[in-house]
Order: sequence, then structure tokens, then C-alpha cells
Amino acid sequence: KAFVANIDAANPTLNAYVTQTTDKALEMARASDAKLAKGEGGALEGAPLGIKDLFCTDGVQTTAGSNMLRGFVPPYESTVTANLWADGAVMLGKLNMDEFAMGSSNETSAFGSVVNPWKSKTSNADLTPGGSSGGSASAVAGDLCLAATASDTGGSIRQPAAFTGTVGIKPTYGRASRFGMVAFASSLDQAGPITKTVEDAAILLRSMCSFDVKDSTSLNVETPDWTQSLGKGVKGLRIGVPKEYVVDGMPAEIQKLWDQGVEWLKAAGAEIVEISLPHTKYALPAYYIVAPAEASSNLARYDGMRFGHRAEGTTSLTDLYETSRAEGFGKEVQRRLTIGAYVLSAGFYDAYYVRALKVRRRIAEDFDNVWGKVDAILTPSTPSAAFAIGDRQIDPLQMYLNDIFTVTANLAGLPGISVPAGLDAGGLPLGLQVIGKALDEATVFQVADVLE
Ligand code: GLN
Repeated sequence: KAFVANIDAANPTLNAYVTQTTDKALEMARASDAKLAKGEGGALEGAPLGIKDLFCTDGVQTTAGSNMLRGFVPPYESTVTANLWADGAVMLGKLNMDEFAMGSSNETSAFGSVVNPWKSKTSNADLTPGGSSGGSASAVAGDLCLAATASDTGGSIRQPAAFTGTVGIKPTYGRASRFGMVAFASSLDQAGPITKTVEDAAILLRSMCSFDVKDSTSLNVETPDWTQSLGKGVKGLRIGVPKEYVVDGMPAEIQKLWDQGVEWLKAAGAEIVEISLPHTKYALPAYYIVAPAEASSNLARYDGMRFGHRAEGTTSLTDLYETSRAEGFGKEVQRRLTIGAYVLSAGFYDAYYVRALKVRRRIAEDFDNVWGKVDAILTPSTPSAAFAIGDRQIDPLQMYLNDIFTVTANLAGLPGISVPAGLDAGGLPLGLQVIGKALDEATVFQVADVLE
């Protein structure tokens, strides 16, 4: 009830929820109370969560932030959310996001921008909570839920977590099922939580992950209890600091934060190792070819006939397709689909798409080459703190640069966490990122716990 009251009071300003499911929440909470009274219940019994609006929820509108899916009520449940309900969690509602998860500021949503509860000391401007999981991050930071689900294709869990002083982890690709998650780029998409603490992230991630025969890329592995990693310290761990992540034009305060993180880990007994990930500079261009290519294939299904918004008064099948897609998709999605169709087209496939796949392999190999020397890698989460709404909308390339530290983990399928680690000159939160080996979230949590 406290969270429902907070949503009612603050959501008109923050715009974090697209859909509130208050009646359902109170009903689920009562059922949890009854279980807890009998000494029963799951790992998340009664925990009130917000759900990013790309997880299909049975009987509850799921929009992926798009007019294409406005009014779509799925007849089935995503595996991730089904796991949460099975563990006793309560659903407060569905959270705003960039359209089809394409964006870094939540400004591409058909449901309007989300406002970051944080304000800079030096300006009155409304700030973005980052994206694409902007609603999730804003809701957690603003106490409109205890924790939230999110998804990360190129940074959409970690960047919004960094912008809102919250914790966000993207697990190893394949840990969480993609079944029932509206697809953006299937070889990169992973679900994960945004939470207030590292411990909450460890608990929630465990519930979200499972082997699932309904997702052919799901990994048939045990989901460990990651709370076991907490409080262990980092004595004897080798932490890599990649020199290629010192990028041109990186603000001094980001370098300072990173140095601070290194000092903390050193003081806690970790060994710091300078490493090289030589193909890092190609990660962003490779990501912005692979992700749009997969998106153009995935989003082909929204033709107004089989799926999605259908335009009125069209005169032919082609007209129906074109008008439905023109009306249903926003500008950024159209830009991505255009890029994707271009790089996959017969004349350009080898020059762009195949080349980007080769670069992707090199990036994964860069990581493979350092795991003998280090147990985890420390980098900043983002090249800046949260920026003002409207600030970067004019220049998509500048917006894409936001993902510079996060896309590599997606391209290589590795786990990455963002932990709040300090404030910038304006008093805004900044995050540090820990990247780990495939399936080694345990070490990622262990290091994050020391940084928190
Ligand atoms: N900002 C990146 C993009 O726009 C990543 C988005 C995401 O991780 N879903 O593609």
C-alpha cells in the first residue's frame, strides 16, 4: 500500500509507469500475507516489483513503449515474470521504456519521457533516468517499487542504474530466458534486475534466471545463490583495468571515479592489473550494425496484419503494411530498421553485417585472452552523469556514444553490473561497472559488494 501511495503521488511527475495494476497488486499482496502468516512463502514473498513493459504479462497490457503495441494484452506470461510470481513477488505495474528498448534516455517512448528523481545542484532541468530501462530505474530510485525488472541489449540495465544511483546487473547471455520478452536484438538481449542494493540484485536475479526449453539460447546450468558471494571481500582477486576504456574526451570526474574504485579495491586487498582489450574501439560501430540488423528482422512481424497496430482506410496490402508501420513506429525505431535493412541488403551484407560479426568475435577473444590474468574487470559505467531531457535528442550519434563502456559485455555475452560509486560536481550519481567471465556472476557480485 505504501508503494501504491507513492506511485499515485509521484507517477504524474516521473511518468515511470505506463500501466498500474493496483487491484492485482493488493490481491497478490494479501495472498502473500496469508502465506507468510503460516510461515510459508517463496524467496520474494510479498516483494512489490515494477515490470519493464517488454515482459509479456498475461492479461495485462504490454507495449514495449510503442504505439505499435498500444493496447496489446498478451495471452501468456514471460518466463522471467512467471519465475518471479512463483517466488511470491507482487506486480505493481508495467514500466515505461524507450520504444522497443532502442535508446539511452527513455525519450523514444511513445508514452513520453521518464523523469529522473535526481536533480542537479546546478540546474533546475528535468534529467533523464537513462534508457532504455528508464522507467525501471526511475521507479526504483523514486521508491515507486522495491525493485524492478529490466533488459539490456547494449547497456539498458547498467546505464540507467548509473544515472539513478541504483544497482543493475546484466547476467551472462542465456542465464535468463527471453521467452515472452519483446525482442530487440535476440543475440544481445538479456533480462536482469534494477535494485537499491547489491544484495537485492543477487536475490532478484536468482529468481529471474532459469533454464527454459522455450528459449533455444537458454543455458542449461544451475542458478547459484549469489548472496553467498557477499561479504567475502576481494583479497587476492586480480582486477583488470583496460587501458582502451580511457576514451577521448572522457570527463575528469569519470577518470577520478574510476581511480577511486581502483583505490577501494586495492585497499581491500585486490591486485590491480593493467590489461589491454585492443578491439574495444570497434565495439560501438559493430553494435550499431548487429543490433539494428537483428531488429529489422525481429520487427518485420509488426506488419499490421499478423501483429501490431493496423492502419485504417488503406487501399492495398502494401499500403496497409507501409501505413501501419509508419504510424506505429517512432523515429528512432524507423532509423534502426532502415540501418538494419541496409546492412543486411545483398550489396552490403559482407561489407557491413559479416564484418561486424567478425569484429564481435575479436571483441569476445579480447576478453578470453585476459581471463588468465584477471578475475574481473573494472570500468566506469557511463561516460557522464544523467543529462537533461532534450539535451541530446538532436544528435543520434552523440546518444549512441553513451553506450561506449557497456556494449562490449553484450557483444561478448558476459555479465556486467553497475554499482553507484560516487557523485559528480552537480551532486548526481555515477556508477562503476564490473565485468566478469561467462557464468561467473559470483565474482561480479563479490567485487560489486566491496564497491557499494
Ligand atoms: N542504448 C542502446 C541502444 O539504443 C542499448 C539499448 C538497450 O540495451 N536495450 O541500442
